[in-house]
Amino acid sequence: MTRKERYAFVLDYFQQHVPVAETELVYDSPYQLLVAVILSAQCTDKRVNMTTPAIFEKYPTVQDLAQTDFDTLFPFIKSISYPNNKTKHLINMANMVVKDFNGKIPMTVDELVKLPGVGRKTANVITSVVDAQPNMAVDTHVFRVSARIGLTVNATTPLATEKQLISFIPKELIHIAHHWLILHGRYTCVARNPKCEECGLRPACKYYHTVQKKASKEK
Ligand code: SF4
Repeated sequence: MTRKERYAFVLDYFQQHVPVAETELVYDSPYQLLVAVILSAQCTDKRVNMTTPAIFEKYPTVQDLAQTDFDTLFPFIKSISYPNNKTKHLINMANMVVKDFNGKIPMTVDELVKLPGVGRKTANVITSVVDAQPNMAVDTHVFRVSARIGLTVNATTPLATEKQLISFIPKELIHIAHHWLILHGRYTCVARNPKCEECGLRPACKYYHTVQKKASKEK
């Protein structure tokens, strides 16, 4: 199977079997999504979703968040990983949005990465989820799943993975492909023991065929 054929199979499979794929973070606006994504670094979406309702109630707008201080915000965030840094990032991010972007969350990757606590992955998430821009956020799931299936070859960094994926996936599918790969990695192609026997991508998966070959040689 060529790489092009592999992509075609995988995208076709997801289109048929997972027509709706969305972020599992709960949000109502670009501001809320940005807060949730910043909090989600090294933390589960489930835990973030338990934390954000109280934050959004106390700080309904980015202007409200900009006016708070560390000691007031910290208790809302303390059950999340890296609470000190994330508290500082949120306050500094909100201040920069108010001062430099007229209180509106910017919607380009180049602008977003200027905000404290926002790296390329977060900027790609925000622009693809809010605006369906053809940007691919590469997290640990996307990185692992893409390599296992063979969508990426010798990609040793998230950026290399991102570049390979966006060069093969049709533009209009990139924003949803991000969710397909994340959800597949979270629930089927899990890190330690991928659930290959229940996976519909087996016919196109490099890893599966390697494992299968090895097993038949050992028989
Ligand atoms: S066949 Fe196995 S390794 Fe390949 S994508 Fe499916 S779960 Fe992952």
